[in-house]
Amino acid sequence: MITLKEALGLPKEELRQLRKDLAKRAEEKKELNAYIAMDESGEGVPIAIKDNIQVKDWEVTCASKILQGYVAPYDATVVERLRQSGLAPFGRTNMDEFAMGSSTETSFYGKTLNPKDPNRVPGGSSGGSAAVVAAGIAVAALGSDTGGSIRQPAAFCGIVGMKPTYGRVSRYGLAAYGSSLDQIGPMTQNVEDAAILYNIIAGYDHRDSTSASVEHTPITPDPDRKLTIGIVPNYIKDASPTVQKAYDKAIEALKSAGHEIVEVSLMDAKYDIAAYYITAMAEASTNLSRYDGVRYGYRAEATGLRQMYKRTRSEGFGEEVKRRILLGTFVLSSGYYDAYYIKAQKVRHLIKEEYEKVFQSVDLILSPVAPDVAFEFGSKKSPLEMYLSDVYTIGVNLAGLPALSLPVDESGGLPVGLQLIGKAFDEQTVFDGAMSLERAIRS
Ligand code: GLN
Repeated sequence: MITLKEALGLPKEELRQLRKDLAKRAEEKKELNAYIAMDESGEGVPIAIKDNIQVKDWEVTCASKILQGYVAPYDATVVERLRQSGLAPFGRTNMDEFAMGSSTETSFYGKTLNPKDPNRVPGGSSGGSAAVVAAGIAVAALGSDTGGSIRQPAAFCGIVGMKPTYGRVSRYGLAAYGSSLDQIGPMTQNVEDAAILYNIIAGYDHRDSTSASVEHTPITPDPDRKLTIGIVPNYIKDASPTVQKAYDKAIEALKSAGHEIVEVSLMDAKYDIAAYYITAMAEASTNLSRYDGVRYGYRAEATGLRQMYKRTRSEGFGEEVKRRILLGTFVLSSGYYDAYYIKAQKVRHLIKEEYEKVFQSVDLILSPVAPDVAFEFGSKKSPLEMYLSDVYTIGVNLAGLPALSLPVDESGGLPVGLQLIGKAFDEQTVFDGAMSLERAIRS
């Protein structure tokens, strides 16, 4: 597949041909179920868009029944920025319903297959975006990451996925899941393309009240910079042997590239799981209250207003989404608010402080993305088991940090990805380290 960098240099006619070729190839790989819909009409470098980002005149559904028939009346800021830079939205990619999941199994449209192995999940929730890039049916894609949804599918499909610092990329036009955690980011074939796409979408936006008014200087990754990189022995001990092997390989590659490796320790990640799921579900329960059958998409038949609300929400939301709305409402209810929600915010604060402490002595942290390679469909037997698989990604969201996942190794044909985590608003260093690691691994 042509890279984003190369595609940006193509004349108009060749881009038109590229869009046609991509659509044809996507049709041939329909069984992946990675695209929900295609749109060849746009002008510019084709970019696949996760189905929770507003594209004017597209149906945008968060892969949910409750949003069937909803047509976006405006472009998300990131989409506006794509268009201004000569790129254009190309297809809607499949995802877990409302981005709640780690496997793309909860989509209203059915599951997406991992291009590397059709018996395994592509990861989630941006599984469609990862699969189209990995399968060579997209030049690049946008995903969203609330607790790992860009980085984990990138790792499972063998591509690059990057979550920017919270506030760096506008959330205007991104369907809210956990508003204090959500970030849009690039999913690409390599680190350089991730930097290019990141540069296009990053920057202050007055339409997003949590957008950071920190200056965004476009990044050119410098793989020759020498960095101090922290490794986390107390994290890695719980990962599978396959992931541990990839971790060792990455450490050797980084050392040979001239970086200094130092051991650091982070708080037991079981606290991340608890703090994240309480926070994310609480925020989701309020964010999703807007889907009431009046304003957007699906409306159930009913004789009165109350019955209409009840039926619309009962029929429109899938099981996992309903579970989270219920749990989120519970942790916010009076009598439990202090014990759960407030406590989770205190733990979140400690997690953030812990990262800040570690970053006083290192430039980056090298961490696993997932405990193992892509798992088989249906293999997580309970919601809790699925939540536990997010153990390595969610701390980054709780602390609001930038992180990039890249393929480092392979085991039995399945990719193993690792992530580099940076200081808040220091995306430059994340890209520098990632490009250096990518180069060292490939050489
Ligand atoms: N798997 C996590 C969850 O289900 C993260 C999802 C995401 O980042 N959108 O909440």
